[in-house]
Amino acid sequence: MQKYVNQLLQDIKQITLQREKTLQKESKKEESKEDFMDYLKEVDQYVSEIPKHNMYYHFNIEKIVFPPAEKLTDLQMASLIDALKDIWAVHRFACDYPAEVPIRIIYPLFLETMDEPVFLHTYGVSHLDFCSSYPPDCPYKEYCTCQEIWDELEDDDPMEVKGTDKDELPF
Ligand SMILES: [Zn+2]
Repeated sequence: MQKYVNQLLQDIKQITLQREKTLQKESKKEESKEDFMDYLKEVDQYVSEIPKHNMYYHFNIEKIVFPPAEKLTDLQMASLIDALKDIWAVHRFACDYPAEVPIRIIYPLFLETMDEPVFLHTYGVSHLDFCSSYPPDCPYKEYCTCQEIWDELEDDDPMEVKGTDKDELPF
């Protein structure tokens, strides 16, 4: 499997470098009024269009080439995540997750995220966060900081409605 992972890492790196080169060429072009119009067009597309393609499509890499987590060691997953973060970065995708979340949770989340249709920015950056802000279904499980926030809220009990019957709706 290590040999396969190495090849895959190389392929991802190749696409990342290629994209970097393209971006460098583009940034060498002088900024013009046209750029600003393109930027406005992109903002407009971003708010009005439904994205059609997922990251696998944008990166031109097959979904099937990524081995499932159970076939990989933690180290292999970590190196794949690093390579994926790089390829995300050159396509203007940034992601954040708590450092405590095990790689076995993060790796499948990366693969799932890449399967979702996304808008490919030329100017802006898409920030991706896998946390659902709702502990019972947050993919980070007990490792997420949203649990703490949730606990604090529960202590304060701002949602508690006193004096209502169990069957009665609280609104
Ligand atoms: Zn969370």
